[in-house]
Amino acid sequence: MSQASPRVLALCGGVGGAKLVLGLSHIVAGEDLMVVVNTGDDFDHLGLRVCPDIDTVSYTLAGVVNPETGWGRAGETGEFMAALASLGGEDWFFLGDRDLALHVERTRRLRDGETLSDITADFACRLGVTVNIVPMSDDPVATKVATKEGELAFQHYFVRERCQPAVTGFRFQGIDRASPHSRIVEALQNPALEAVVICPSNPFVSIDPILALPGLREALTRCTAPVVAISPIVGGAAVKGPTAKMMAELNVAVTPAAVVTHYAGLLEGFVLDERDAACKRTIERLVPHVSIGDTLMVNLDRKIALAEQVLALAGRCVAA
Ligand code: GDP
Repeated sequence: MSQASPRVLALCGGVGGAKLVLGLSHIVAGEDLMVVVNTGDDFDHLGLRVCPDIDTVSYTLAGVVNPETGWGRAGETGEFMAALASLGGEDWFFLGDRDLALHVERTRRLRDGETLSDITADFACRLGVTVNIVPMSDDPVATKVATKEGELAFQHYFVRERCQPAVTGFRFQGIDRASPHSRIVEALQNPALEAVVICPSNPFVSIDPILALPGLREALTRCTAPVVAISPIVGGAAVKGPTAKMMAELNVAVTPAAVVTHYAGLLEGFVLDERDAACKRTIERLVPHVSIGDTLMVNLDRKIALAEQVLALAGRCVAA
């Protein structure tokens, strides 16, 4: 893993973000790309430290991700889960047999005093990934989801309750005492940085925990590179997951414009899906540079094409 300052820095959650990051990795050299990954989803489960977004990004970049789900490993088996269920254990969160090895080893190394970022970098290296995958912080942050049925730990809301309870807000426990990883701050201060990309991840539970880290938002606004985002809302709906459901429950219009408004004060550029071309005028009033294209990353070519479009937009922001 290289410690050189990156040219491109991407803020990312899990499945949606990882798709674009894979595209970026095909056009930006690994050492020039830093992926800042949300850790608000991380939790202790069955005595293990589980980091779903970091693992999704790592497996995706390593080419070992399960192509059907977008998370977990390809060709995975579930012997451990079956045995656990037969013993009456908690089986609502699936941990595949091979995936389990990673959680066991990460937990051991954390207990031995290593940082999450060092362990993540080492695992990435062992998986053959050259992209810099950096947890947003080495300090624990836990996303809590306020719902009409009470507050839920993130994975209880997301996996156990299948996002059914109506959300009323979010809280990032530990955020006040957490620092953004020093490499993120250094990268944002470096004039060599060419683009900051907010991936089409869930704005509330994947990107907001990163933005809520003390000093991070200021570092983004001071950074000389343009910040560009890609709409996770396509044709009035989320491609996958609860983003649109959350927006509706929070009384926010399920539109790309609402996503831009959510990132108010940060964006110089925005990629809008061609299915939402009718919103272009509205978005142009909110953000200086808008690009329209097919943002549905249905295959590797589409991921690379969107990554190219995003970097071209960042280039336009700089040239303007
Ligand atoms: P999670 O942490 O696994 O939920 O993943 P993310 O937060 O990174 O991504 C979830 C978001 O990605 C959802 O809002 C989806 O609408 C969005 N998304 C997923 N795939 C695509 C895609 O191909 N194109 C676009 N534009 N958005 C996508």
